[in-house]
Amino acid sequence: ADIAMYAAKELKAGAVVFQPEVHATTPVRLSVLGDLRRALDNDGELFLHYQPKVALDGERIEGMEALLRWQHPTQGLIPPGEFIPVAEGTGIILRLTERVLDLALAQQRCWVDAGTAVPVAVNLSTRCLLDAGLPDRVQRLLAEHGVPAALLRLEVTESAVMGDAARCMDVLQRLHDLGVHLSIDDFGTGYSSMAYLRRLPVDELKIDRSFVLGMTTTSQDLVLVRTAIDLGHNLGLTVVAEGVEGGEHVVALRALGCDVAQGYHYGRPMAAGPMSEVLSRMGTI
Ligand code: C2E
Ligand code: CA
Ligand code: CA
Ligand code: CA
Repeated sequence: ADIAMYAAKELKAGAVVFQPEVHATTPVRLSVLGDLRRALDNDGELFLHYQPKVALDGERIEGMEALLRWQHPTQGLIPPGEFIPVAEGTGIILRLTERVLDLALAQQRCWVDAGTAVPVAVNLSTRCLLDAGLPDRVQRLLAEHGVPAALLRLEVTESAVMGDAARCMDVLQRLHDLGVHLSIDDFGTGYSSMAYLRRLPVDELKIDRSFVLGMTTTSQDLVLVRTAIDLGHNLGLTVVAEGVEGGEHVVALRALGCDVAQGYHYGRPMAAGPMSEVLSRMGTI
């Protein structure tokens, strides 16, 4: 019941969009950047919501994804899709990512202390993978918060890695050497070859929600989901379906042998407080 309550809140909050569209005009982009710089100096404007990832073999929570939220002082809650692409156009994405890691690991430390921690996943932009200093910063933040590397996952998109493969590979390898688990996000939307995927030091593959959403009505989507699950398993990866919105998806994914599901069916992204309650009732989501 409390999940439904926070879901309703997130829905309502999400309805307050930043207008006009960020890509529309330069002045708006500039104000997003200026406001984002200010938000980085302000406590509390930027915070994280957490969405559970549920193991399909028994419906226990096996992890969660941290998703960035921005409570703008006058514009209300701005969804990440509206400011992350703008931040990615400049170096500010590196500061933003460091903030997200810091917030996620501070919260993770609380869950470690409470004895309820499961791995938390943080999203990395393409630009972060080209930043040779990232692995050291991740290592420092893990040490600062006293969180074991195995309790952090990093999600990178297929297309990010394909862009500048050699440089990304080095950063990914060093992150992996720290003991951090890596996921390929939005799988199916990029162009990775099988040979390339095999060489990546990744542990998990997340099937993009557009395919999951269509799998019970569109045969091409079903084929893609099945192929992705088989490919992931053949490479020894855990396979996660994102955007799981209904019971019919759960049934279909179980039948295909998918390992983990994430989506509104199990819970919307929620604040750390309600996530703590869900974790302490572990497995009975
Ligand atoms: P993503 O990494 O693919 O994250 C999943 C998105 O799908 C989230 O949107 C989540 O709220 C939404 N979602 C989860 N379950 C369902 C479902 O069942 N149905 C539907 N329709 N949607 C679902 P959100 O939070 O708006 O984030 C959008 C994107 O913004 C993320 O996509 C990610 O690419 C980016 N993002 C969010 N937080 C961060 C961050 O801290 N750093 C970076 N670099 N990117 C972030
Ligand atoms: Ca993600
Ligand atoms: Ca995704
Ligand atoms: Ca996505």
